[in-house]
Amino acid sequence: MRTRESKPAADVAIIGGGFSGALCALHLSAAQPDLRISIIERGPRLGPGLAYGACAPEHLLNVPVNRLGMGLEPSFETWLRETADPAVLAQAMEESGGKLGDAFVPRLLFGDYLEDLVKRILARGQVRWLRGDAVAFLDGHKRGVLLADGREAEAKSVMLALGNQTPSPPDGSLSELQNLPEYIGDPWSPTATAAIGADDPVTIIGAGLTMIDVVLMLRGQGHRGKITAFSRRGLLPRVHAFGGQWPQFPERLVRTSPATMTRNVRREVEHAMTQGIPWQRVIDAIRPAIADIWANWSVAERQRFLRHLRPYWDIFRHRMPKRVADAIQALRVSGDLEIVAGRMRGYAHVDDGVELRISRVRSGDDSLRTKHIINCTGPRTDFSVLSSPIILDARRKRLIKADEFG
Ligand SMILES: Cc1cc2nc3c(=O)[nH]c(=O)nc-3n(C[C@H](O)[C@H](O)[C@H](O)COP(=O)(O)OP(=O)(O)OC[C@H]3O[C@@H](n4cnc5c(N)ncnc54)[C@H](O)[C@@H]3O)c2cc1C
Repeated sequence: MRTRESKPAADVAIIGGGFSGALCALHLSAAQPDLRISIIERGPRLGPGLAYGACAPEHLLNVPVNRLGMGLEPSFETWLRETADPAVLAQAMEESGGKLGDAFVPRLLFGDYLEDLVKRILARGQVRWLRGDAVAFLDGHKRGVLLADGREAEAKSVMLALGNQTPSPPDGSLSELQNLPEYIGDPWSPTATAAIGADDPVTIIGAGLTMIDVVLMLRGQGHRGKITAFSRRGLLPRVHAFGGQWPQFPERLVRTSPATMTRNVRREVEHAMTQGIPWQRVIDAIRPAIADIWANWSVAERQRFLRHLRPYWDIFRHRMPKRVADAIQALRVSGDLEIVAGRMRGYAHVDDGVELRISRVRSGDDSLRTKHIINCTGPRTDFSVLSSPIILDARRKRLIKADEFG
């Protein structure tokens, strides 16, 4: 049975009350105090979403506090000073030379901050939270969203802020891997690591920030078994550095081919380093130009970037705080964590787990016994194959359309 939820209709319904949905609601409500906003969120909290909610205390933000201002009042830095446990802040500030703005604090705190700000606008009554699962768009003369329990949330406009999807499952000869009980397809699920025994060997597909999250979480839970992480190139995210400034240089980035752009960035990095400026500042200076760079590339250039450059861009752009890098390095030195450059070629189910056939870039074919395989290859972005009901409905009604990359 369908029931009408909001009367009169909201001006805007935001599906997804995580980081993006909360931020939109906060900015919209500040800019237009008469606007009626509904947020449809299935989870138990508004604001933190996946990145800043489902995480452990050892998971740190991968950007410093002063880069999370976002034009909100109070700023994250002010809120931290007023609210957060001084001992937690002191630990983060050890690394940043005593500056809170430069510190990398636990992600949980950012989630608490967002939730606190959203609670304030909920209390004012301008924003309503409809707790539930949005499954379809309303038909006919109605505009708005249908929830799984039959409620209809009418709204003049609907915004999608659905967040990250779970990683793409393995394909080709490894596609059946996803049906094994040892396979963990959603590394962000609160129960992802629940069945992993303290001494179980674990294999992780992917060597980026999600892998690092999972390793830290396992170790935080007392896991002692060996962890092996795979990626084609075996590249790890690089480390943040403090200090220095580098000016933006869009004229050497926008409307250049991926190869020329890469050469220009290299030159810029060399130039910065001769002046004692960390290369990280050059990468930061690229960020404002990213949308223009992408918009001006042809499909072929975008494909070249994704195939050849993206793995390098990812590790230089999505960096880890030094504290995290030190913890990962210690695990590598002790042999508890091995990063393998290579590919999985096949597998066999054996009595005590799975035997993986792997080919290492340097030393060729090998095999590896493991008890758990966690997919940490990053969020799936191909909207043409995603099967969540709201996306399927939006595709069916031609409200969204996949581009050439999905
Ligand atoms: C583990 C992790 C750590 C990260 N760490 C950082 C970091 O430190 N710094 C950084 O800059 N970026 C980080 N990121 C990048 C991150 O993706 C973004 O910063 C941001 O949090 C994404 O926000 P979002 O609103 O798109 O998704 P989310 O915050 O996840 O919000 C999506 C929300 O939509 C809800 N939802 C989805 N579908 C429906 C539906 N049909 N009906 C109702 N509700 C629905 C979900 O329950 C969820 O709450 C991280 C990402 C991940 C996955």
